[in-house]
Amino acid sequence: MKIGVLALQGAFREHCLMLDGCGTTAVEIRKPEELDEVAGLVIPGGESTTIGKLMVEWGLMDKIKARVAQGMAVYGTCAGMILLAKEIIDSNQPRLGLMDIVVRRNAFGRQRESFEADMAVPEFGAEPLKAVFIRAPYIEQASQNVNVMARVHDKIVIARQDKMLVTAFHPELTKNDVIHKYFISMIKE
Ligand code: GLN
Repeated sequence: MKIGVLALQGAFREHCLMLDGCGTTAVEIRKPEELDEVAGLVIPGGESTTIGKLMVEWGLMDKIKARVAQGMAVYGTCAGMILLAKEIIDSNQPRLGLMDIVVRRNAFGRQRESFEADMAVPEFGAEPLKAVFIRAPYIEQASQNVNVMARVHDKIVIARQDKMLVTAFHPELTKNDVIHKYFISMIKE
């Protein structure tokens, strides 16, 4: 199975390594037509304003929306989560705007620029999940049709809507590939 990783800016290489390690083939995506051959797309962490601007410039914004409408699954980490949100508090930056969530950028505060947290995720079993947060956003509000899967400090940090998955943190920077495996199972559903 081929899974695309948006490779404009940010932590895309780590996602490729993790997907390859899960037995799928990661494909770096820079051109719209490259999306035609993948069953899913990962939008990595990085700087959401930069990635969004490059998505518009490189003609990827409309193409990704079209592919999602055709059933392509998408997983956004951190900046990728921001780009999938319909509403970004205090920002009119370019975005896909596909998920019914309101996100706040750099939301955990300056003193918590980056931190690790253990969280319970019932969908993934009893083992707590360790996550790395880097200038992370959180979901301030989610609509009824969004499945809230985990919270940290009471804030929503994993959510799913249809074939769209978002995490506020960076699983690709740990050794735990449970979220990538979950995303792969979503693609196969
Ligand atoms: N703070 C970044 C943004 O707002 C996201 C950080 C990240 O992806 N690690 O785009």
